[in-house]
Amino acid sequence: MIKKWMDKYYGGAINFRERLLRIILSLSIAVSGMAVVAGICIGSRPIVLLPLVLMTAVSFLSFRLVCRYRKVGLAVWVMDILINIFLFPLMYFLSGGMGSGATVWFVLGLVYIFLLFTGTSMYTALLLEMAVLGTAYFLSWKHPDWVIPMESTGSAHIDSLLAVLMVGIAIGIIFKFYVRMYEQERKKGEEQRAEIESISQSKSAFFANMSHEIRTPINTIIGLNEMTLREDISDEIAENAVNIQNASKMLLALINDILDMSKMESGKMEIVPTQYETGALFSDLVNIIWIRMHEKNLEFKIDISRHLPSMLYGDEVRLKQVLANILTNAVKYTEKGSVTLTAQSDRIDANRILLKITVADTGIGIKKESLEDLFSSFRRVDQERNRKIEGTGLGLSISKQLIEMMGGKITVDSIYTKGSTFTVTVEQQVVNPMPVGTMDFMVKRKLYEREKYKQSFEAPEAKVLIVDDNEMNLMVACKLLRSTKVQIDTAKSGKECLEKTNSRFYHVIFMDHMMPDMDGEETLHELKKQDKGHCQNVPVIALTANVMTGAEEIYQEKGFAGYLAKPINGVLFEATLLKFLPHELIEYSVYEEDGEAEGSVQTFFSAKKKKLSITADCVCDLPGKWLEQFEVTVMYYYVYTKQGRFSDQLEISSDNLLKYMQRAGSEAHSAAPPPEEYETFFADAL
Ligand code: ADP
Repeated sequence: MIKKWMDKYYGGAINFRERLLRIILSLSIAVSGMAVVAGICIGSRPIVLLPLVLMTAVSFLSFRLVCRYRKVGLAVWVMDILINIFLFPLMYFLSGGMGSGATVWFVLGLVYIFLLFTGTSMYTALLLEMAVLGTAYFLSWKHPDWVIPMESTGSAHIDSLLAVLMVGIAIGIIFKFYVRMYEQERKKGEEQRAEIESISQSKSAFFANMSHEIRTPINTIIGLNEMTLREDISDEIAENAVNIQNASKMLLALINDILDMSKMESGKMEIVPTQYETGALFSDLVNIIWIRMHEKNLEFKIDISRHLPSMLYGDEVRLKQVLANILTNAVKYTEKGSVTLTAQSDRIDANRILLKITVADTGIGIKKESLEDLFSSFRRVDQERNRKIEGTGLGLSISKQLIEMMGGKITVDSIYTKGSTFTVTVEQQVVNPMPVGTMDFMVKRKLYEREKYKQSFEAPEAKVLIVDDNEMNLMVACKLLRSTKVQIDTAKSGKECLEKTNSRFYHVIFMDHMMPDMDGEETLHELKKQDKGHCQNVPVIALTANVMTGAEEIYQEKGFAGYLAKPINGVLFEATLLKFLPHELIEYSVYEEDGEAEGSVQTFFSAKKKKLSITADCVCDLPGKWLEQFEVTVMYYYVYTKQGRFSDQLEISSDNLLKYMQRAGSEAHSAAPPPEEYETFFADAL
């Protein structure tokens, strides 16, 4: 029973205003009912009691109207008209006017309007109430005889006291209920917010885990596919393998997008500014996009201002991600014509510039009505026409959020069917104001043409340990390094790694970051502390799927010598290992000329010196100490005399030959050895 009554006020389904109305109506029933009883007790005349009885009845009816028929708006008006327009003014005239408690009831009427009316209804009710009050006061002033006075000053005092008490208590109770309900709503809101937050967190965690889980098989696909590409295979198989490679890269990009999106939603996305070379940013972008332009036969126009400062400070990785996305879209949505990349800067002050980059295409363009949706997540505009073009509709949303986090903005101008222009403006700090000058964006064909794989070095004496909890990853890593002939050991957990390092020495260790039980970081710490270990000071390279800006520094801070992103790129894998292997272990190494090496690999290659072998088939001009210093191996010429054939220098010295030639009738000539001897000589030398 009590619960049923409490539900009428606190039941979950009713809103704040309705609850308040129910409480006011209940109070009104109680207060007016009590007033009737009090009036009878003090012997008030029936004419005075009548309005109170009416009020009790109307309140009760309105309460039924609300509880049974849910006609809240109607009940609010019915109560207002009956009480504020009729009953209170009537009470005023019937029970003493100014000199009684009737005036106090008017206050309750005003409070009622403020509490229960909303919007224009409130102003209407207020105006009406003011008009009624004004009229009542005016009439009682001008026609005091219209006011029925209280029987005595005693009853006037009691009436006033009762009115003050009842109205005061009623307002107090309403206020208490109001505060209580507000608290309840606030708590409910907080609970809901916490629930939403926890759902969003578990969603983000799910995405992050899922992305990580998906990367592992992609790692295998990309790695094993690379092994196929390295083989001597037919063109058809090669084409299939290249397609697998492209599809896996796309899948990877997609997962990265989903991961970025969930990071943004959970507020974990961070902008990490670093110093970067402006030239490198643009040449990387050109390298990324050039192949696709070439494949689609599009003209790629580049106009990078010569005056851009050569070194800037900002989040290069994220800026590159945004620009690469816009450029990729430009290529995706353009069938013929050109894509133009323009960059210029405006100086803000001595240390800052406003970098403005535009990407204009002559593609399909975007309808005006679609422009609004362009930057919303998962929105792909003009679906009908774009259904054959792959995409998720995440790229631009991520780009916009990233640029806004950097304090910049992205805008778009587009003419449907003619083309679009995306403009990114972002502030960057200047590190080196020297202008970049004219940039040369010569891109080597080699970058996209399939080439016969050749290992970059061999080091059969090198011992390498690879630690990863996933067997497939270990298998791929071993295969990728197979041609370098290094001795590879594997460990499937941090514990196994520590067992191995306790008994064996390795020159380099590759360590997965995310492993169950003991992750890469913990294993590294333990490894450095191993008393009898053999690898405390060995370079340990982290293998990680979550590459973020500034990863190099972050991993170095954790104690790693470097990091390698998963899925592992074969060329980078070799290059990283080469960087950390002791020089003397490298028996054979192909160092490409700088320009031939791919992007970041370049630095690894140029970090090492070329190992040079000098041979000579004529030693006349080379001083003996040079032969020794540079370990020059010499292919001896033959000297033919009447006495027979001698190896120059070896079997006959220059002095003896000269003496022989000074004799009368002597004959001597020299000749190169036959080709077979040259072959043997070079084979030995190399
Ligand atoms: P998607 O992965 O679908 O390309 P984006 O967020 O990068 O996702 O782009 C959202 C939508 O904006 C695309 O689906 C496409 O309809 C439209 N769009 C983006 N760039 C261009 C462009 N250069 N020309 C025409 N339409 C574009």
